[in-house]
Amino acid sequence: MITHDDLGNLRAIVGEQYASTGESVLNLHSHDESYHTPVLPDVVLWPHSTGEVSRIARYAFERKIPVTCWGVGSSLEGNPIPVSHGIVIDFQEMQRILAVRPEDFQVDVEAGVVYKELNKTLSRQGLFFPPDPGAAATIGGMIGNNASGIRTVKYGATKDHIMRLVVVLPGGDVIKIGNRARKSSSGYDLIHLFVGCEGTLGIITEATLRLVGLPANFMAIRVTFPEIKNATDTVFQVMSSGFSPAAMELMDSNVISVLNCDRNLAMQEQPTLLMEFNGFSEEGLRAEMDYIEEICTENGSIFTDKGIGQMERDRLWEMRHLTFESIKRQHPGLLPLIVDIAVPLSRYSDMVTFIKQEVGDLLAYVFGHAGDGNIHVIIMDAPADNRRWARVEEANQRIVEKALAFEGTCTGEHGVGIGKRRFLADEHGESLALMKRIKTLIDPEGLLNPGKLFL
Ligand SMILES: Cc1cc2nc3c(=O)[nH]c(=O)nc-3n(C[C@H](O)[C@H](O)[C@H](O)COP(=O)(O)OP(=O)(O)OC[C@H]3O[C@@H](n4cnc5c(N)ncnc54)[C@H](O)[C@@H]3O)c2cc1C
Repeated sequence: MITHDDLGNLRAIVGEQYASTGESVLNLHSHDESYHTPVLPDVVLWPHSTGEVSRIARYAFERKIPVTCWGVGSSLEGNPIPVSHGIVIDFQEMQRILAVRPEDFQVDVEAGVVYKELNKTLSRQGLFFPPDPGAAATIGGMIGNNASGIRTVKYGATKDHIMRLVVVLPGGDVIKIGNRARKSSSGYDLIHLFVGCEGTLGIITEATLRLVGLPANFMAIRVTFPEIKNATDTVFQVMSSGFSPAAMELMDSNVISVLNCDRNLAMQEQPTLLMEFNGFSEEGLRAEMDYIEEICTENGSIFTDKGIGQMERDRLWEMRHLTFESIKRQHPGLLPLIVDIAVPLSRYSDMVTFIKQEVGDLLAYVFGHAGDGNIHVIIMDAPADNRRWARVEEANQRIVEKALAFEGTCTGEHGVGIGKRRFLADEHGESLALMKRIKTLIDPEGLLNPGKLFL
């Protein structure tokens, strides 16, 4: 428990108005976007620099106070919930873009930068940071969860775009990891130890991100199928035919019907694939479109809407944005359990078929980043109703077990947080013990984001 003296000392580090114990502030930092039980921190701090973060970490280490990092709290597995109370470090005051280096396709940023804002700035130089998790996430939060999104199928996840990190370790030491070279064989790959660690090993204060050039032209195509297997078989065939979609999303008929209802649309309420391709010439994109359409027709497609150019891409993709919000809005009073498995592409159809059978009697929405073999199932229900929620948990358990049996993962992009801890032993076997040893080595007191990743 934080004492009056602790509060005074922490306020002295960040400045009086950058530390709060106000009820509404603590509430805001007690929950993410998941159903997991909120827990209040003792204090929220908004540091301005790596130096201040280091002093906070040193103080917390001396006083054995837990520290949990906070981006905007948009996680879906309880990742930033301060389950042991203590200090929450919010990075809102560290939102500077430190240097754009277009000649090297790099940008240096502070951890609190929101990636959508970053991409607005970068677009003026014809560049962008591709991982796109949808929500208004921060770079620190994206690194914490190794977030990915609709463009990962072409450009990779957050981990593929991190070149350098400034990390504050438990105890306050500051280390710089990585370099500006496009490749390196130099020593252990510490960058990827910290990416995806959910703030359990270190506090990221700055990062150098690898950027890519904005595409010159776009083609998008939305295709409806009679059964979900027609759509999932198409995913495998498009990917294995050597095409490189910039995005490829699957939506089951329940998702289409909730979008119709929530946004007053009139789409056919059947399984749907939404794809985007980037290229240079309209001619090249048109040829690609013809091939893709042919594959869809061979798989029994019943309706196609398509177009070339940015406006057409935006028109076709409009319906996919804010899917999660539409689902939540249509079920007031219920909370979401979000399944986030990923499997090898060759098992994608089998996995989706299994999921559809498994969630038969539940209020479930199946969609996801199909080109990555990533599937989300949002199951809406009432956690307070023990009998119903046990059924929801059972479906989650069986779906994850199946994904692991297919040599996939219990979490494609949302991280482990609280919700996926029980699956790590099955997924990682003996290497889980090494992960725990690494945690103990770097954070012997277990002060950084306690209660996450491991049971
Ligand atoms: C509508 C919606 C759609 C989403 N879609 C996707 C999606 O498509 N793909 C996807 O990957 N995710 C998705 N998410 C989940 C979420 O947006 C991402 O995981 C995002 O990266 C979290 O960023 P954040 O800034 O909110 O971080 P937070 O939720 O605040 O924190 C995330 C984790 O990182 C840690 N952390 C935060 N900052 C730091 C730091 N500076 N140093 C060390 N650790 C830190 C936190 O302690 C926590 O463990 C979605 C969420 C919502 C609500």
